[in-house]
Amino acid sequence: MANITRSPWLLHYDGSSCNGCDIEVLACLTPVYDAERFGIVNTGDPMQADIFLITGGVNEQNIPVVKQLYEQMPEPKVVVAVGVCACTGGVFKDCYNIIGGADQAIPVDIYVPGCAARPQAIIDGIVKAIGLFQERLENSEKESDKVG
Ligand code: SF4
Repeated sequence: MANITRSPWLLHYDGSSCNGCDIEVLACLTPVYDAERFGIVNTGDPMQADIFLITGGVNEQNIPVVKQLYEQMPEPKVVVAVGVCACTGGVFKDCYNIIGGADQAIPVDIYVPGCAARPQAIIDGIVKAIGLFQERLENSEKESDKVG
């Protein structure tokens, strides 16, 4: 895992999931899996968030919400789609109001497969997201040094 210089804050949003993946995400935050040991902090505020973790696909009703949450997050940011529904629309793909995976609304960096996604896979996705966030943070600092 990359050496991190800042604890990334993580925003979890439930798109149109069945809640199966959400339960596994919550399990990751319990002492059993303890995802916070990798330095992340769970937040409900998109304006403070660095990592956007989304479960479930996007539909006609939530697509503006997903876009708005993403836009409210400061740069740099990383998006993690958790579970096959968030990756592709999954089992709900052919439902009348489902548009597809999270990448139909926003750019997704990391796809975590599974139905439901296993805690180990979710944590692996979070660790990858932390590394990518650190890389983007360093790049944006280099860019601002050039400008400044
Ligand atoms: S991937 Fe499976 S468990 Fe996760 S939200 Fe979709 S149907 Fe539910």
